[in-house]
Amino acid sequence: MVDLTTTLIHHPYTPPEGFAAPQPGVFKASTVIFPNVAAMRNFEWKDKTAYTYGLHGTPTTYTLEERLCTLEGGLQCLLLPSGLAAIANVALSLLRTGDEVLIPDNAYGPNKALAEGELKAWGITHQFYDPMNPQDLAARISPQTRLVWLEAAGSVTLEFPDLCELVRVCKARGVLTALDNTWGAGLAFAPFDLLPGVSPALGVDISVHALTKYPSGGGDVLMGSVITRDASLHMKLQLTHMRLGLGVGANDVEAVLRALPSMALRYRAHDEATRQLAAWCQTRAEFAQVLHPALPDSPGHKHWRDLCSSGLGRAAGLFSVIFHPRYSQHQIDAFCDSLKLFKLGYSWGGPMSLVVPYDLASMRSGWPTHLKPGTLVRFSVGLEAVADLQIDLSQALQTSLI
Ligand SMILES: *Cc1c(COP(=O)(O)O)cnc(C)c1O
Repeated sequence: MVDLTTTLIHHPYTPPEGFAAPQPGVFKASTVIFPNVAAMRNFEWKDKTAYTYGLHGTPTTYTLEERLCTLEGGLQCLLLPSGLAAIANVALSLLRTGDEVLIPDNAYGPNKALAEGELKAWGITHQFYDPMNPQDLAARISPQTRLVWLEAAGSVTLEFPDLCELVRVCKARGVLTALDNTWGAGLAFAPFDLLPGVSPALGVDISVHALTKYPSGGGDVLMGSVITRDASLHMKLQLTHMRLGLGVGANDVEAVLRALPSMALRYRAHDEATRQLAAWCQTRAEFAQVLHPALPDSPGHKHWRDLCSSGLGRAAGLFSVIFHPRYSQHQIDAFCDSLKLFKLGYSWGGPMSLVVPYDLASMRSGWPTHLKPGTLVRFSVGLEAVADLQIDLSQALQTSLI
């Protein structure tokens, strides 16, 4: 089998007749002209056999959809204007009044906020489960449970769950699973085939990806995708997508198409630099705990190793530290302010390193037992020279914690 790195470069795009450039064209359209009334009545966009309106797809969006299916091992793809819109599309499509959705307690914050806001207002209930305890998930599934969200590693705290076991629990109860696969990005593990070579395949039903992060790679595009391996499930999601009008712009699609061939290379570079910095932080007395799934004592390390070792043992570009409780919030804020290369800002996957201090207590149902007490700061490692980043961390520790 050809490596994904190669497949992301050699794609099946067919250039227009007589113009054999391998890079896909950028087609922009709202209106698409029909040859006659019969075509207008009969052309079908839902199965991609024809073009009918810009919002329903262009050669440019179809090309990116195909590329993302290749990346994640899916069969159908929807593009949305942000990762969060992709999450919302799944929820709005699959949940009705009286249904319940289960979300891991360490999930991407706005996913939890959607459940606490709009979903709750519409009579859709939610529970937050402990992602590190599949029995906790099993105990919370009820006849009302329609959807279970999964995330690996968890946002901010980077615990790595036993993804296979969580999926098995849901499958045994006939509940749909949706993975927020932004961290794994299709490179750390295969979301629809968690145990490659094992048949029948064990995988999630839906993979959601914030393309804003690694696929874009530039920190300049917002986009999301919803990928499936089931035509009828895709159709359900697609009809909601159409009714909500969640199209994406051709220039943004082009930016992602352009960045995809270098994605595996970038992901590996982020990964290597992040491991070096996380390991260095472990040697520093200022930190009570360093959270990064490839560190042997990080929560869920074994699950990460089991799941991701069939790839290159990849671990993305995020790590968090918990400062020793002897430091005040004021000192930790001063640390973040003293960083010169790590900029204060949300998101990740771009070339610039970023840092965010979090108030973890306000984000979780309770302080997780596997986390030491203290204040958490998350780093997103960019593509700068790792030695420069380490010097930056070192100088900020020295100037702010006195
Ligand atoms: C960034 C992110 C999202 C949302 O992506 P946006 O494009 O910023 O809306 C969703 N999930 C995770 C895990 C993310 O990191």
